Amino acid sequence: MATMAKITTMEQLFLDEIRDLYDAEKQLVKALPDMAKAVSSDELRDAFEEHLEQTRAQVRRLERIFEALGEKATGKKCAAMTGLIKEGNEFVSASGDTAVRDAGLIAAAQKVEHYEISGYGSARTHAEILGNGGAVRLLEETLFEEKEANEKLTELARYQINDEALRSSKGNARGAGGSARDGW
Ligand code: ZN
Ligand code: FE
Ligand code: FE
Ligand code: FE
Repeated sequence: MATMAKITTMEQLFLDEIRDLYDAEKQLVKALPDMAKAVSSDELRDAFEEHLEQTRAQVRRLERIFEALGEKATGKKCAAMTGLIKEGNEFVSASGDTAVRDAGLIAAAQKVEHYEISGYGSARTHAEILGNGGAVRLLEETLFEEKEANEKLTELARYQINDEALRSSKGNARGAGGSARDGW
């Protein structure tokens, strides 16, 4: 892992943040299709696929920020996103009950959204104090989408996915492990 080079200015810090986010979003563009494929609920799959499209637009927003700064669009490995995706993939490859697995996939996806909300929030604030209004607007657009995605997942979990998972879980517990849904 790259160690932090000497960092002396807020401009450098801001660029570092944008590079981290750029790499994080690009990792997500690669990972989300597999997560969507693993989902059993149609609504949850739609939500993942919709957010994949948004994520592609978020990558382009970051490229516009690089361009305005006169910097090359290059990422800097986001180790946190690598770890969060790895955790999500544990559910992608898990066997067992598909309804319970969906509940796990939502929880993993919300960890990703929370990480992004935090990263975009700080980058936006740093753009603000640096007087970079163009970057503030672009980062806020994405920040809004990340918050919206997180809220949508909260609602899906609360009003649908968790109930289905619990029902299925109780059935599996009664069946003493023999009859997980979909015959896995
Ligand atoms: Zn992101
Ligand atoms: Fe994103
Ligand atoms: Fe990061
Ligand atoms: Fe997101």
